[in-house]
Order: sequence, then C-alpha cells, then structure tokens
Amino acid sequence: MIANYHTHTPRCKHAIGREEEYVRCAMDAGFQILGFADHTPYPFPAGFVSGFRMGLHELEDYCLTVRKLRQQYAGQIQILLGVEAEYYPKFFPDLMDILRDNGVQYMILGQHMIGNEIDEPYCGIPDGDAKKLERYCDQSIEAMHTGLFTYFAHPDLFHFVGDKKVYQAQMRRICQAANSCRLPLELNLLGLHGNRHYPNPHFWEVVAEENCRVIMGMDAHQPKFLLDADIRCRGREFLAGYGLTPMDTVTLRSIR
Ligand SMILES: [Zn+2]
Ligand SMILES: [Zn+2]
Repeated sequence: MIANYHTHTPRCKHAIGREEEYVRCAMDAGFQILGFADHTPYPFPAGFVSGFRMGLHELEDYCLTVRKLRQQYAGQIQILLGVEAEYYPKFFPDLMDILRDNGVQYMILGQHMIGNEIDEPYCGIPDGDAKKLERYCDQSIEAMHTGLFTYFAHPDLFHFVGDKKVYQAQMRRICQAANSCRLPLELNLLGLHGNRHYPNPHFWEVVAEENCRVIMGMDAHQPKFLLDADIRCRGREFLAGYGLTPMDTVTLRSIR
C-alpha cells in the first residue's frame, strides 16, 4: 500500500495526534501519498451541532496546516488536502462553495447518516428496516452520480440486520452505480482492525460478483495506526479471498 487517502485530525473530536505526526508515521510506513480527509464541516442551520466533525471556523486552519506540511515535505511524500463528506442534499450546494473557496482538492464519500443528518440516526447501528437501507443506497447512489467524489469510504457502513437477500439486492445497486461512475469502493482497514460490522462479507461477495474497483483506506484516527503493516496484509488477504486486488492509487476527482 503506497497511498492512503483517508486520514483524520483531532478537529473531528474523535482522533488524536498532530498532523505532522501523521506525516512522519506515513513516511516511516513507506507511504508515498498521504491524503488528509478529515470529517468535513457542514453548513447546518444555526443551533444544530454535529458532534463528529470540525466546525466551519476550523476549516481554514485545517487547510493551511495541510498545505504547509505539503510544502515542508515536498520531495519526500505527497500530501493531499481532502475531506470525508456525506451527501446531504439540502446543504450540499453550500458545502461545495465552502470547500471550493478553501481549495480542498478532493472528497471521499462517507455516508454516516441519511437525510440531512438532522433528526436521523447514525447508519452504523443495527437496523432491520429495509426501507431505511434503501434510502441509504438511494442517497449514496445520488452522491456518486454528482461526479464529485473520489471514492466511497466504508460503503458497507449501514448495519443491516435483516434478510441477506434484501441486503445484497440493495448493495448490488451501489456496486453497479460505482461501476457506472468508475468510482472505487473502499475496504476500510479501521473497521477490519476493530472487528466492526464492516467490512461486511455479504457486501464484499457482491463487490466481487460485480467486479468493482477497490481501494484500501486506513481511516487513521491516530498517527501510529499508519505504522500497522499487519492490518494492510490482512486487508489484502481479505480482498484476495474474494478474488479482488486493490488499486494502488486513485485519480482524484476535482470538486470544481
Ligand atoms: Zn467515516
Ligand atoms: Zn473516516
């Protein structure tokens, strides 16, 4: 693994370590490309506070910090400035203006909630509601079709506990949309490391059947996680079990 496009910073309120520590660990681990993709701020209406992302007032410093590191480490490691973003239709156009104004280079799609986040539960809690799963898929597919996302992070985040056939039929729609948009799907190594409900084997069966493009993402929330070579091996083995080989790098989709 020579590139990781999924790196957080403490601004999301659930990661630790300074940006430079992430860079140093990435270099020690042999990465040639390190992309910061912290949880994007979102222009929600006043009074609504999202607890797992940076505030709008933190974006400027985030971008400055990453750009400064890019210059400082030029020639040693390529540093990219991105965000992990949900697609919330109501606030998305405003979000795009903000990200463009700040010179963000790329977005990865991380659809942690459906609707517009407000009054919606986290997608990663066990849920047997097929309608909700369908909404997750509809919304993710709409997001992919914007053409603005570079890849889809933990596409199997939705924790469906209902019928496997129902689940796979819905998730196949995501795989087929990813193919028609030529958009890679991420095997999330943090989930694999933490024995979370993702990566979900039922999902990866479908990814293999549809022969989707696949990339591995560390989803690092602490610098040292980037040094974990074992999890990268396990990721490759996991994919090999489905006859899949991850891409080394992805082409960034411009957000303009
Ligand atoms: Zn995420
Ligand atoms: Zn993440």
